[in-house]
Amino acid sequence: MMKHISLLGATGSIGEQTLEVVRLHPEAFQITAMSFGQNVEKGLKAINEFKPKLVAVKNDDVKKELEQAMTSKDISIVSGLEGLIEAAVYPDSDMTVNAVLGSIGLEPTLAAIEARKSIGIANKETLVTAGHIVMEKAKEHGVQLLPIDSEHSAILQSLQGHNLEDVSRLILTASGGSFRDRTKAELENVTIDDALNHPNWSMGAKITIDSATLMNKGLEVIEAHWLFDMPYEKIDVVLHKESIVHSLVEYHDKSVIAQLGSPDMKGPIQYALSYPERLELASAKRLNLWEAGSLHFEKVDMDRFHSLALAYEAGITGGSMPTVLNAANEAAVHHFLEGRIRFLEIEEFVEQALQKHQVIPFPDLQTIQEVDRATRRFVNERIITS
Ligand code: NDP
Ligand code: MG
Repeated sequence: MMKHISLLGATGSIGEQTLEVVRLHPEAFQITAMSFGQNVEKGLKAINEFKPKLVAVKNDDVKKELEQAMTSKDISIVSGLEGLIEAAVYPDSDMTVNAVLGSIGLEPTLAAIEARKSIGIANKETLVTAGHIVMEKAKEHGVQLLPIDSEHSAILQSLQGHNLEDVSRLILTASGGSFRDRTKAELENVTIDDALNHPNWSMGAKITIDSATLMNKGLEVIEAHWLFDMPYEKIDVVLHKESIVHSLVEYHDKSVIAQLGSPDMKGPIQYALSYPERLELASAKRLNLWEAGSLHFEKVDMDRFHSLALAYEAGITGGSMPTVLNAANEAAVHHFLEGRIRFLEIEEFVEQALQKHQVIPFPDLQTIQEVDRATRRFVNERIITS
């Protein structure tokens, strides 16, 4: 049966790979609505190829630019957060894939859940900042969140045929990112280009930096806590530099089930789109274990990767703390990418923001948004005036 998809963030790294999966299976998937930010050139290409009925863009300026460039008048163009939400709940869509970057993805996710779309979730900030609200709403509306993050997809795959009650531990693997073999002292003067050079995965800029600090893994620990209803003491992280074992589930009998494959985001994307079925993925590279040779695993040094320790702390404290973690990190990474702060200062600003914040238990959506804004302001002011 044809699955109709609203794809949010179509011009991004995950968005483009989602389009690639759709391109490989024209009999199974169709894009009915899509959104992008401001990359009109890429967006227009995707529109011409996939012919969605609705397109949402970041703002009115982009909308005007797109309208001038488009020849077809059958496609509605909408803009802003309202437009993004319109795309997320598009009536003809069965599934909403959220591949936008950052906490702007939260409201569209909630709206899509209310509209009872099945949700493919790449936008991890959604679960980190408002996991309690998102999961409660999903439960209320009987909607399943299908993870697109490779680790969470691996866990979902390793859980098939089993009950969550029989799980004793989730083990997330981390590649260690661009600087996995450097000491903390060697990180003092690393450049933006060094940080953007990830050894295994090709991803968007922000998540590549998050991989280098291991904040990405920290966000994923919080994401796993919500997706699989698992307490933090039952979520571990192990360094695994080959990125072949994508994550593992330990059961009460100490048996461990893992999912393996060559690192390629199209695998988890397609699994979310076709779940619970599996389709062929012709473009994927077969995993020949004899070519991989040996696989390595290492305990994480929490001093060296201080961001991961901060994420665990924020997750365990709960309430509004994960929102502060995420917002401070987004702001700090932005300033790092703009060349305003050094690499190691990212974790310093995140820590300062967490320390300054008075935790609010069970924050509602409005409180989350206020905390998010206040945190960004705090980090921005410190960086601009320092
Ligand atoms: P990218 O930066 O590559 O893409 C982000 C997408 O969101 C683009 O289409 C961009 O549009 C759009 N966008 C950004 N800001 C806005 C805005 N204000 N309004 C509307 N649209 C906006 O990110 P990734 O694809 O790397 O990541 C997307 C999400 O998936 C993130 O949450 C990330 O953590 C998660 N993820 C990514 C993985 C990866 O391999 N890349 C792996 C696992 C999770 P435009 O460029 O046109 O402005
Ligand atoms: Mg991941």
